[in-house]
Amino acid sequence: MDDTSRRLFVEARRLIPGGVNSPVRACRNVDSEPLFIVKAAGCRLTDADDREYIDFVLSWGPMILGHAESSVTAALHAAVERGASYGAPCPDEVALAGEICAVVPGVEMVRMVNSGTEAAMSALRLARGVTGRNKVVKCVGCYHGHADPFLAAAGSGVATFAIPGTPGIPGAVTADTLLVPYNDISAARECFAVHGQQIAAAIVEPVAGNMGLVPPAPDFLETLRSLTGAHGALLIFDEVITGFRVAYGGAQARFGIDPDLTVLGKIIGGGLPVGAFGGKKRYMEQVAPEGRIYQAGTLSGNPLAMAAGLATLRKLKTLDYNALEKRTRDFAAELGQIIRAKGVPVQTPSLASMFGIFFSEREIRNLEDARQCDQRRFTTFYKQMREQGVYLAPSAFETGMVSFAHTDADFAASLDAARAVTFSR
Ligand SMILES: *Cc1c(COP(=O)(O)O)cnc(C)c1O
Repeated sequence: MDDTSRRLFVEARRLIPGGVNSPVRACRNVDSEPLFIVKAAGCRLTDADDREYIDFVLSWGPMILGHAESSVTAALHAAVERGASYGAPCPDEVALAGEICAVVPGVEMVRMVNSGTEAAMSALRLARGVTGRNKVVKCVGCYHGHADPFLAAAGSGVATFAIPGTPGIPGAVTADTLLVPYNDISAARECFAVHGQQIAAAIVEPVAGNMGLVPPAPDFLETLRSLTGAHGALLIFDEVITGFRVAYGGAQARFGIDPDLTVLGKIIGGGLPVGAFGGKKRYMEQVAPEGRIYQAGTLSGNPLAMAAGLATLRKLKTLDYNALEKRTRDFAAELGQIIRAKGVPVQTPSLASMFGIFFSEREIRNLEDARQCDQRRFTTFYKQMREQGVYLAPSAFETGMVSFAHTDADFAASLDAARAVTFSR
């Protein structure tokens, strides 16, 4: 089986490092090889061997409407006829910026970029520029793209100075990154008590989606809001996943917290490469050419990406997020019951249209907890689900995604597949 994918992967490995253009796709965490996808529609992917899969990855989040949704596809067709890139302003940039500013509470002005990485990197530069400070507080296990200052591994203890998590990053670049465990209110307090006067910003995923799904503990986000405010630092919400997913206006709308800066990506590009950073006018006005903090991009505000993003938001606005949340919750709960009925402890938390699968007896609150999960069982589960046509993220440290295109029949088929999984003792 998977003959064509296997053949393509052999070829890809000769030409592309690890055969993939983003590491997790290589499926090494789950002792597997990637499937090469040739088309996608609704919640289904078709691989190069013409096998179909129910997709719970959704391009890692962007495809909340499902793949090739008709209004997005039509907008893209129309846009491509008008030319792929101008390197000059286009009307859809203004429309997309207008919609984002209208519905994301903390965003009064926004700048488009080409990826979430670029957006997070630019937001940090802006925070450092406006505060004249260098340090940034980051939560262990949160991902903000692959810009140097964010790729720091945890040292031991509370609010340790970060060491680079990968070769190629000078220690000096992460020396200003301060780490606190996600959901650890006292560690955050201690960090600000010690370093408060030097901190430019705290950046956080308001719902963590890069260590599996980890919702914020009560008061955690509120504490970050008050600590940053009290110390003259900016609060940056990284809503690259949660923006237009956790609620139409993002996690900040759902939780009623007003960050200074917001990082967006994924859904706002409708499947094309997009990111954005935005926030309070008094900060965003300091971005060039209005202000002195430089940021630029040849393809930023690209007309195809703007058309796909705008069509996606227009469609999303008409859809029922509460219903999607309930469907996701029911699905995750039943998935948990099915697995536990086999005598295998598992946690299947969900929030909005995100869910996690943690092979653990305990609730997961941070990266340390997530690391304790049974990786072998996750691999077993992943492989057997994929074999039966259910496409899950190939890592226990990723979040399951549900789209408006998943039907009751798709959930039922996925649960049937879970029932058929066997775990060795
Ligand atoms: C995906 C992601 C990013 C990075 O976005 P890219 O477009 O992959 O660069 C940043 N932050 C969060 C929370 C993400 O999930």
